[in-house]
Amino acid sequence: MKNQKVGIMGGTFDPIHYGHLVTAEAARTHFHLDKVIFTPTGTPPHKKGYRVTPAEDRYLMTILAVNDNPFFDVSRMEIERTGYSYTVDTLELFYNEYGQDSKLYFISGADAVFDILTWKDVDRVLSYCTFIAATRPGYPVDKLNQKLSQIKKLYGKEVYPMEVTGLDISSTDIRMRIKEGLSVKYLLPESVEIYINKNGLYR
Ligand code: NAP
Repeated sequence: MKNQKVGIMGGTFDPIHYGHLVTAEAARTHFHLDKVIFTPTGTPPHKKGYRVTPAEDRYLMTILAVNDNPFFDVSRMEIERTGYSYTVDTLELFYNEYGQDSKLYFISGADAVFDILTWKDVDRVLSYCTFIAATRPGYPVDKLNQKLSQIKKLYGKEVYPMEVTGLDISSTDIRMRIKEGLSVKYLLPESVEIYINKNGLYR
């Protein structure tokens, strides 16, 4: 339990897709992580006014998606929290659980980095973990690097960008395709697609 390198894969996962899975696997191998814990968001503070699929559905789809990878796990920590779900609170709980001899890595989309300075207690967020920002191919890396320099200047912390080839899949696109009756085969695990169909999600 102690002295581990633990990846925390934060995301709404609405729905989870192969881009997320490839990202987590790339982070695991690149940063030599012992495991990656997918942590679906509860009530995301930055999605006020958006319609987000119930947390329990997003959690179950995540369980189905990671089932065949022994290094992947799923946490209910955020979906069980009442009120808005802040990353700082999540990281604090993981920090207490794994101890100060372990190293936490928070993996998220690069877009999150652009907003990170507005997050609750950003200094504590960055002190609890090493932040990994996954980018899609063609992402404006210059703009991202400017942001990373700003974060370094303000907080003395390095954020690691990581380009992920398979990340040109997006949850928004998948939701749209399902709504329009288009195929989502090979964009996400079949078990997740079956769950979506069975429960009539995104229609
Ligand atoms: P989002 O705003 O829905 O996503 C931003 C972009 O990043 C989207 O293109 C998304 O693609 C991609 N993305 C999201 N998570 C990813 C991941 N783990 N790996 C690769 N790409 C990812 O972001 P979100 O999913 O809601 O939030 C990301 C994380 O930041 C969550 O853990 C959330 O709790 C945290 N957050 C915290 C605060 C705060 O504490 N104040 C504020 C905002 C976000 P897809 O749409 O395809 O997933």
